[in-house]
Amino acid sequence: SKTTPKRKETAEGDVLGIRISHADRLLFSDPDITKIDLARYYGVIADRMLPFAARHPASILRCPQGPDHQCFYQKHAGEGFPDEIHQVPIEESDGDVANYLYVDDAEGLVAAVQMGTIEFHIWGSTIDRLDAADRLVFDLDPDPSVTFETVKTAAVDLRETLEAIGLKSVAMVSGGKGIHVIVPLSRKAAWEDAKAFAKALSARIADQDPDHYIATMSKAKRKGRIFIDWLRNERGATAVAPYSLRARKGGPVATPVTWEELTGLDAANSFHIPDILGRIEDGNDPWAEAGDWKQSITKAMLKAAGAE
Ligand code: ATP
Ligand code: MN
Ligand code: MN
Repeated sequence: SKTTPKRKETAEGDVLGIRISHADRLLFSDPDITKIDLARYYGVIADRMLPFAARHPASILRCPQGPDHQCFYQKHAGEGFPDEIHQVPIEESDGDVANYLYVDDAEGLVAAVQMGTIEFHIWGSTIDRLDAADRLVFDLDPDPSVTFETVKTAAVDLRETLEAIGLKSVAMVSGGKGIHVIVPLSRKAAWEDAKAFAKALSARIADQDPDHYIATMSKAKRKGRIFIDWLRNERGATAVAPYSLRARKGGPVATPVTWEELTGLDAANSFHIPDILGRIEDGNDPWAEAGDWKQSITKAMLKAAGAE
């Protein structure tokens, strides 16, 4: 007689032709996400994610035993890295040259998951033009006592401040506590200008409303305030990539949102893989219109921000 085939206890699986070891390893629970689930997620989200992440030097957050165990950021390609994770030599501030890693396709994302990667963090410039920013990131970091409502208001206010200067922006909930207000730049800005602009504007906002904002890193002075982290806008600095999963409870996703839907959100970590896949299926691309924006940081904008 015919026997029902026994369910295979897969120790290995395959995503886009890449062998995934420990495929059944449970990385997150409620909803459950195994290692191969994560590989498949990045395989599917690649089309949405790569326009932002491809060819940008990356720092990967690896948690080889899972996010409840030791995790570490890695920016240099290590031994045993597969070819799908590419390398680019970059001169560091001390003059030494080191090989940085980057991906340029879905296979690269999946291969990184095979290496234990959960989060992707990216530079604000591409490997063919490392010295110029293709976006600004204002990373709003609230002190724990600040409500998400207040962070949302801060993001909208920042959007308006940028708009008044002549720059359009998009919003991303980080998957953690804060919101990233991102200014896509079609004509890239020298890091010197990108940093000067972000620094001056952040300092001006903190000067004008010191009860709510701070533009210096000091944790002590952050009490009850939002730190406008402009330090993402430096050569070599990273920010979490749009659509990256976060190695935090429940596996939230750093999610691009429209300004309209932001107003209705309860938290920065409310989107998970099924939500993101649903948005893709619905053809919902919150940042679609930003693809047509042509903007750059002009001398007049630097002056308007107070950077002269
Ligand atoms: P949250 O909303 O909870 O602040 P976040 O991703 O914005 O989440 P931050 O601590 O504000 O987290 O860090 C901002 C960015 O700076 C990160 O997304 C990451 O790219 C980078 N970063 C922070 N700490 C490190 C680190 N130790 N090594 C490498 N990159 C880091
Ligand atoms: Mn942050
Ligand atoms: Mn920060």
